[in-house]
Amino acid sequence: MKYLKETGALINMDGDLMHLFEGNAGSVNFDPQLIWDLHKNSPGTIYAICHTHPPGMIQPSSIDKEMLKGWVYALHPFPVRIIVIAEDDGYIVETCYFAQVESKESWLTRNKETPREFKMFLEFHNHYDPEEGFPPYIETLLDNSYEDDSNIIES
Ligand SMILES: [Zn+2]
Repeated sequence: MKYLKETGALINMDGDLMHLFEGNAGSVNFDPQLIWDLHKNSPGTIYAICHTHPPGMIQPSSIDKEMLKGWVYALHPFPVRIIVIAEDDGYIVETCYFAQVESKESWLTRNKETPREFKMFLEFHNHYDPEEGFPPYIETLLDNSYEDDSNIIES
């Protein structure tokens, strides 16, 4: 069982995989055009932008948070979530950050006195025991990020 690379995905509200992105050892190439097109075709359909991290790195990186911020402005009024999936202490940890930005209308009403209000916070943390299995989107991401996910616990 060996970690190979990061892998990314877009999921909808039901946790269905909408698209898979290839990554490398330290990052994922999220195709912005693809995300934009999906959003245009069906606004609000993207529930979360997910990706795996190397073992132990359960938090989003500063680059991840910058990306989240960028998409929140682009996809407004819809909130955006970023989900990081990483192995930690024999468990698979799923960490979700939620972000939203104030509407332009509300900001203009305030005469732009202060910057548009932006909030980002930890929405949830899930710990999965590999012996008990994973939601399908996590299973797919792990399949793509690990050489063999049959015995994650022995990593
Ligand atoms: Zn990341």
